[in-house]
Amino acid sequence: MTFAALVLWAAAAAGAQTAAPSRVQVAIVRGAVSAALTAVGGVEVVEPDGRRRALEWKGLIRLRPREGGLRLADLRLPSETRLVPAAGARVRVGPDPYEGTLILRLDPGQTVSIIEDVPMEDYLLGVLPNEMNPDWPLEALKAQAVVARSFAYANLGRFKKDGFDLTADTRTQVYRGLSGVNENVRAAVRQTRGEVLGWKGRLLRTYFHACCGGHTENAAEVWGGNPAQTPQPLRGVVDNWCRTSPQMHWSAYFTWSDLTAALEENASLTGTLKSLRLGRRDAAGYACDFVARAGRRDVRVKAAEVRLALGASDLKSTKIRRLIARKKGLEFYGAGSGHGVGLCQWGARRQAEHGRGYEQILRFYFPGATLSVVE
Ligand SMILES: [Zn+2]
Repeated sequence: MTFAALVLWAAAAAGAQTAAPSRVQVAIVRGAVSAALTAVGGVEVVEPDGRRRALEWKGLIRLRPREGGLRLADLRLPSETRLVPAAGARVRVGPDPYEGTLILRLDPGQTVSIIEDVPMEDYLLGVLPNEMNPDWPLEALKAQAVVARSFAYANLGRFKKDGFDLTADTRTQVYRGLSGVNENVRAAVRQTRGEVLGWKGRLLRTYFHACCGGHTENAAEVWGGNPAQTPQPLRGVVDNWCRTSPQMHWSAYFTWSDLTAALEENASLTGTLKSLRLGRRDAAGYACDFVARAGRRDVRVKAAEVRLALGASDLKSTKIRRLIARKKGLEFYGAGSGHGVGLCQWGARRQAEHGRGYEQILRFYFPGATLSVVE
């Protein structure tokens, strides 16, 4: 892997090259009737006209909408107001502490949102413990940090029309401020500061998942497009590292009525569901579709959609090897957990346990990618 001191930043849409933004705006509360805030240390209120005042604040206070603006405890504030914690101070939103500037907003539907404006590297501290076990080996966490950073930069602007960069949930990456941050996480982010994966001089849109079940997936099989045209680092690789993972093999049982409901969300069945079998399988071993027999007709239904309808945590992946009929339902036998694209977290953990460094781990899961520093 070449380690270039990449200074240029390829903006995803226009291809224009500008300096990489060093801060990110994350929506930590969206469309809520109210939010509970607690200050730990001094906090300043900054109004849109720049007026600042120190907030006298003890215990838990509530942020609520009011006609034309916001109400914070008994303070009447404009519809967009910033809370700036002093150095070393934090504001808890619900149970989670935040050190960045909190932008309090009145939404059009008379609800409130809170956006944190936070340096990118601090945002990554809050992502890591939610996306990988913070007690896993440091080199695995460093690989995760680079992937999470690349993902974050690649997704900046995705929610521009909503007034922020990233969500704090699984639509992008789970972020809960400083909750769960330990020394291991701090070291992983610090030791990879600014590092992202690139491909042909551009930022690589990276992904990760819990366990690939022995072969990572081609990105186009999950997000559409021609698999033959997927950038080389995202085409999938054979992975023997995760074979001893507890998520390698699983089985899950669903009744015929569960299955009928899940199929009907995605296809119209012309009669009672009589059987379900696996359809096409892709090169990495993931099922592309199921063939459902209902009445006298066979209907093909996309496996990924059936998985979502059954519950992505109940049907852990679409890498389904067999379906076995049981009383009143079917037992699914499968491998791995998640969509399978990019970094396999269990494989990364096993590689780190065998003394491999994060650059080796990244080279393994993203062959051909470059490691660069965003400046
Ligand atoms: Zn794997």
